[in-house]
Amino acid sequence: MKKVLSILFAMIIFCMCLIPSYAASPKISVKTVSSASVGDTITVSVNLSANSGLAGVEFVVNFNTTEYQLVSGSVKKGNLFVGEEIIKSGAIQYAGVSSDAINTSGALLTFKLKVLKTGGKISLSVNDAIDVNDKFVSVSASGATVKCSHAGMKWNVVKKATCTENGEKNGACTCGHTVTETIQKTDHTYGKWTVEKPATETEKGLKWAKCSVCGDKKEQVINKLKPTETTTETTTETTTFVENTTESTTNEPTTAPTPQIVEKTSTAEIVAKTVAVVLGVEAVGLIVFLIGKKKKENK
Ligand SMILES: [Zn+2]
Ligand SMILES: [Zn+2]
Repeated sequence: MKKVLSILFAMIIFCMCLIPSYAASPKISVKTVSSASVGDTITVSVNLSANSGLAGVEFVVNFNTTEYQLVSGSVKKGNLFVGEEIIKSGAIQYAGVSSDAINTSGALLTFKLKVLKTGGKISLSVNDAIDVNDKFVSVSASGATVKCSHAGMKWNVVKKATCTENGEKNGACTCGHTVTETIQKTDHTYGKWTVEKPATETEKGLKWAKCSVCGDKKEQVINKLKPTETTTETTTETTTFVENTTESTTNEPTTAPTPQIVEKTSTAEIVAKTVAVVLGVEAVGLIVFLIGKKKKENK
């Protein structure tokens, strides 16, 4: 089966190689960019298809002068034919002849146009085409339309996007094209983390942050504290602990063993100092009382 297919395939290829010299239906077409904007300079070429068998051709390229302006000095002839061009307002006429039949494809004419208004058509009409026997040959001609690339779009925001809803904007191009597009939601504006539950050596902690615009709450797990660590690591942990305390407004930190000891020591100191002060006040009070009593006794 495979063998049959490959033989058939080879035969088709062979036939295709024979056809060209007789294949008429030559094509002449305008090739250029598919889209452009006002002010752009576009390159246009008029191309002849392969195996045309033409020995002479005459065509006219037309464009509207309100849409395109021919860049002076930009018209170049191809070398398939011995040709001549006549430039008119909004038109380039070309006539070319050859002593042999032309079977290679290529550009017959190239030129540059400045875009004055987008969406304009560049049309092509073939007036005459002959083969080596001076016989008229029918040629299919196709022009081109350069669409607007809408590069000069002016946008108007109809509805601003928030962190909960998409926005909307309208765009209008100089060509008259309008479009409505969605503006994607913005990110939430989260405030500082608040520690809901501080992490311990045995349990994970939890912290949350709220969006100041919509109130959306996001939560994050705080990893367990690492037990028995080297001096440097303990220092890091203490730093983290201090940060948590500043962020948390409601919760008293009761975790991290090291700071707890510090806190206990400081509390003891405060208590001792308070007791001393109270005792001092009481002593002064006692002295004043005794002096007063003595004075009364003296009277
Ligand atoms: Zn446009
Ligand atoms: Zn939000």
